[in-house]
Amino acid sequence: MKIGVLALQGAVREHIRHIELSGHEGIAVKRVEQLEEIDGLILPGGESTTLRRLMDLYGFKEVLQNSDLPMFGTCAGLIVLAQDVEGESGYLKKLDITVERNSFGRQVDSFESELDIKGIAEDIEGVFIRAPHIAQVEEGVDVLSRVGDKIVAVKQGKYLGVSFHPELTDDYRVTEYFINHMIKKD
Ligand code: GLN
Repeated sequence: MKIGVLALQGAVREHIRHIELSGHEGIAVKRVEQLEEIDGLILPGGESTTLRRLMDLYGFKEVLQNSDLPMFGTCAGLIVLAQDVEGESGYLKKLDITVERNSFGRQVDSFESELDIKGIAEDIEGVFIRAPHIAQVEEGVDVLSRVGDKIVAVKQGKYLGVSFHPELTDDYRVTEYFINHMIKKD
């Protein structure tokens, strides 16, 4: 399959590597027209306010809101997919969740944690960098993983969102799961 990585900001190359390790073709998506050639889209981490501004600028917001392309958001990408962000209306609103940004405390900017992710594996290394968490989920959202009492991975229909950065390790099982189990090729 052809999987796009939104290439406006963030760890694009690392995601493409995981797509290739999963046995598929990865494409850096910079223009909306490229959305027509792909079977799924990954929204990388970075800074969600910047990411949103760039998505507005290049015309991605409306096209993606109206599209039924499967999407996988990591960190800032998860924030972009959420229905609500800290009590305010979210951006693409594909995942029926409320996220809070930078939720693991200022003194621990980043950390790693071994995660048990439902349906994927019990030993995924999660790299968290100024990570958000999912404070609330509505009906129909499947909670896949937590760190303590904080939800860090969810799935709803064809949308997957995680607080961490799977692309920064050599373990590509989360990306492989998104492509092989969440995308139906017709
Ligand atoms: N803190 C960032 C934000 O709020 C997300 C950080 C990341 O993607 N690593 O958008």
